[in-house]
Amino acid sequence: MSRIHTLSPVLANQIAAGEVIERPASVVKELLENALDAGAARIDLTIEQGGSGLIQVTDDGCGVHAEDLTLAFARHATSKIAHSDDLGRITTLGFRGEALASIGSVSRLSLTSAVKGAAAWRVTTAGSDASLQPAPAAHPSGTTVEVRDLFFNTPARRKFLKSEKTEFEHIDELVRRIALSAFSVDFTLKHNQKTIRHYRSSQSEKECSQRVAALCGSGFVEQAVRMEAEAAGYQLMGWIGLPTFSRSQADLQYFYVNGRMVRDRSLNHAVRLAYHDVMYGSRFPAYVLFLTVPPDRVDVNVHPAKHEVRFREARVVHDFVARGVKDALAGLQPLNTCPSAVCPPLSSAPVVSAPHTPVSSRPPQGFLPVWQALHDVTQPSKPAVFSTETQDAAVPPLGYALAQLKQIYILAENVEGLVLVDMHAAHERVLYEKLKQELALGHLVSQPLLLPLALNMRESEAAALEAQSELLQQAGFRIQRAGLDSVMVREIPALLRDAPVDELVRDVAADLVAGYAADRLNERIHALLGTMACRAAVHARRQLSVPEMNALLRAMETTPHAGQCNHGRPTVRQFSMTELDALFLRGR
Ligand code: ADP
Ligand code: MG
Repeated sequence: MSRIHTLSPVLANQIAAGEVIERPASVVKELLENALDAGAARIDLTIEQGGSGLIQVTDDGCGVHAEDLTLAFARHATSKIAHSDDLGRITTLGFRGEALASIGSVSRLSLTSAVKGAAAWRVTTAGSDASLQPAPAAHPSGTTVEVRDLFFNTPARRKFLKSEKTEFEHIDELVRRIALSAFSVDFTLKHNQKTIRHYRSSQSEKECSQRVAALCGSGFVEQAVRMEAEAAGYQLMGWIGLPTFSRSQADLQYFYVNGRMVRDRSLNHAVRLAYHDVMYGSRFPAYVLFLTVPPDRVDVNVHPAKHEVRFREARVVHDFVARGVKDALAGLQPLNTCPSAVCPPLSSAPVVSAPHTPVSSRPPQGFLPVWQALHDVTQPSKPAVFSTETQDAAVPPLGYALAQLKQIYILAENVEGLVLVDMHAAHERVLYEKLKQELALGHLVSQPLLLPLALNMRESEAAALEAQSELLQQAGFRIQRAGLDSVMVREIPALLRDAPVDELVRDVAADLVAGYAADRLNERIHALLGTMACRAAVHARRQLSVPEMNALLRAMETTPHAGQCNHGRPTVRQFSMTELDALFLRGR
């Protein structure tokens, strides 16, 4: 090893750049953030060769004073903070004073800028900050930054760049994320001389929706609801996708904290939790959410690329977000949420949501077969969810079963025409709601295991299960600590008897340890109940008798959220006579 020496500023900058500038899209992010911090109303972005040829950002923001131009390129030079107190209340996207220095150390960089009413100047650098000589230039008030030949002097980084197409896709996604956070700013994006995107500035609610549609697809906006919530100085607003619009990837999830896009485990968890009841575990909700937090209650100086934040009241924020989204979802009206035109609500009259269906007060006696459990729910049935005033009193809202199709669908006739029901999905929802009701009344029936199940786990998990044993008991589990790192499962909820008990118990334990503890256990149990209902529901490909089918229809009518199964899939579709007639070109 040689002796210790101080690195040259150029090399030090290149090392520092490694943290922030990973690929062309990271440059775009820093430059767009600078433009937004400068108060731009319009930002034009020009890209060549996926960004490795050219990244040019032009804004009409406040500009840089000629005297400050060279300073802008210096490391730790910023106009955005001055005192360490300022770190505790950051309201700009940038504040580290590093981006231009970093970008300048790994590219040929020029910045041309004019403040309002003054002449424009330009500084240029190529991989070093040694020769900064501002020169007069022509530019309207605002700033243009040009980054050419990214990583030309750091071949190691350049080698890691992906194809032009892939790098551009990253840029496109980045621009989308930023454009979503700044509705009032007009963005254009050009690649290789072709205009690829133009996001128009939007003010009114309608324009904002259009912008979300342009950014996230019109399918999303059509199947999302706008939500707003406020509490204790926190505000949450945005668009949340209907459960039926769930995705197989977490690719339509945008979360902003004070206008900054963030990836935050706890916020993601909060949203997931809100969807738990209505979405299958392996599906992902779609959302665009904006959280506003007083600046002194969030620390953004956590990560060099600034996509992580730390909340002063992490728990409060988590619960606020979960509650807000959950309430918004609960307000949805099951059948009105049908997306397609062939699937109008069962009736145009308002649909009552989430009624408290009377539950039989008789305590359950042991484990009832699934099918019988279903009949129980149907007992004192006053149609609630599907009730409408206009409906013919004699025919129930979902009508009477005609037949079963391929042992999967129930065909029924009601006043309006044909009703199609996915029997598995519908039964699952009915069972799930029944389990929830039982849980709410505190009698989830448990069943002893013939052979108690010993489970080894981490000490912290075993301890968490022990600490929550009372709550677990309410949900039908009896679990005892057996050793430092083991527990003994003695009883499980009767309806869960066919489930992989060890997995369930481990999941609960892991969640408890992760800190989503005590009061959320209840929600966790609901999620488990959802999975269990799915396993216990009648399987597709089972022959049902007409009375059984009618029983299911009646049960659905009294079940909250019956319009979709707890995986978010629809359970029922209505085809009106008009639609059927149209299908057959039959005039009436
Ligand atoms: P930071 O954004 O963290 O302050 P940067 O290196 O990104 O650090 O920018 C340094 C400074 O240059 C900023 O503080 C700002 O004063 C100025 N600056 C950079 N880009 C722009 C721009 N587009 N418009 C106006 N000022 C800019
Ligand atoms: Mg910056």
